[in-house]
Amino acid sequence: MKVLYRLKSEGYDAYLVGGCVRDLLLGREPKDFDVATNASPEQVKQVFRNCRIVGRRFRLAHVIFGRDMIEVATFRGADNDAKGAPKADQEGRLLRDNNYGTLAEDAVRRDFTVNALYYNIKDFSIVDYVGGMEDHKAGVIRLIGEPELRYREDPVRMIRLVRFAVKLGFTVNPACEQPIFQLAELLANIPAARLQDEALKLFLSGYAVQTYEMLRHYGLFEYLYPAAEKSLTSEDNGFPKMFIAKALANTDQRIAEGKSIAPYFLFSTFLWDAVSIQAEKNILAGLPESIAYQQAASKVISKQVQHTAFPKHIGMAMRDVWAMQPRFLARSGSKAFRLLSHPKFRAAYDFLVLRAETGGADKALAIWWTEFQSASEDKQQYMVANLNKSAPKKRKRRRKPTVKTQRHE
Ligand code: ATP
Ligand code: MG
Repeated sequence: MKVLYRLKSEGYDAYLVGGCVRDLLLGREPKDFDVATNASPEQVKQVFRNCRIVGRRFRLAHVIFGRDMIEVATFRGADNDAKGAPKADQEGRLLRDNNYGTLAEDAVRRDFTVNALYYNIKDFSIVDYVGGMEDHKAGVIRLIGEPELRYREDPVRMIRLVRFAVKLGFTVNPACEQPIFQLAELLANIPAARLQDEALKLFLSGYAVQTYEMLRHYGLFEYLYPAAEKSLTSEDNGFPKMFIAKALANTDQRIAEGKSIAPYFLFSTFLWDAVSIQAEKNILAGLPESIAYQQAASKVISKQVQHTAFPKHIGMAMRDVWAMQPRFLARSGSKAFRLLSHPKFRAAYDFLVLRAETGGADKALAIWWTEFQSASEDKQQYMVANLNKSAPKKRKRRRKPTVKTQRHE
């Protein structure tokens, strides 16, 4: 409000726009607030001391209030250059996007009708050029303009469609649905850093299960995580499917309970199947187990970052979690204690439990580690010293003497 009123008192037009208007109309608390204005970024900077100009593809003003930041964007114009030719590449993707325009022009170049509603402080009204209010009331997510053209301009809109449909509980307008099946492959040309930003919003907003299902339905998931898609389609014993699905469900549940979420954890489950298959191959080729896992992790990560470019620390954390999985089996001597003191133990243990719950690891092993970490030190020592007495190995041991006795006879 402060930003809107300051701009107004300086003689500019200023509106709340986008997700915040859409969410407020649903009675939800917006994640952030975006402002659209006819003031240029430089003019906005003159009005606010606490302001910096950001962005190259499109310049924006960020007005900072302590921890909060309000994004102030100047109205964008139509996507045509002086000769009237669109600034797009062969596939129709927008290359430049930096000319200013009017409110009406700004509205039609937004993505979805429900994202193009403007709240006007002058008369407390909603300005709607695209039928967004009608769609909002009907709970419909619909692209502004001709769907195929709009997807070609920016293929990320296909992913955004899924994100908003799920998050808002809206249905997808059928005309916006059909082109996705043909155009999904255009995502292959989107910079991996941008897809990573989208991936975080897709899977860490509390609706990961539904989002994942809808992405797979439209054939979009494979452009984000090809290795995961491959494991999901190649296995039919039900295990990999359950593993990722359970990881997604756990993520949603944690968010619903207000617990913290480590992004690397979910992404490490997406890639686990690829890593473990590659590690097995490396072991068969004669590599020691730990090196086999390290090399498998490097290979899978270097392929994945071509699609979603996550930062190095995320890759490091994933490696730790994967590398600890085979180590959970070797518990003798001080090994179990060393594992327990590893900084990523908790995540790796959660990962093991998830595997055990979905048929990918021994349940008894997960139970052992559950007991071990909360046991007293004496009990821990006892558990490590008596590993061989644990259920699975017991039967084999008993059988051996029987065979020997028979031989003696
Ligand atoms: P969220 O609640 O996730 O923040 P949002 O609608 O605010 O949802 P943003 O990504 O913050 O989404 O974008 C703000 C607004 O900018 C959108 O509501 C939309 O009007 C416009 N916009 C964003 N991305 C695009 C795009 N790729 N093409 C066209 N318009 C876009
Ligand atoms: Mg927003």
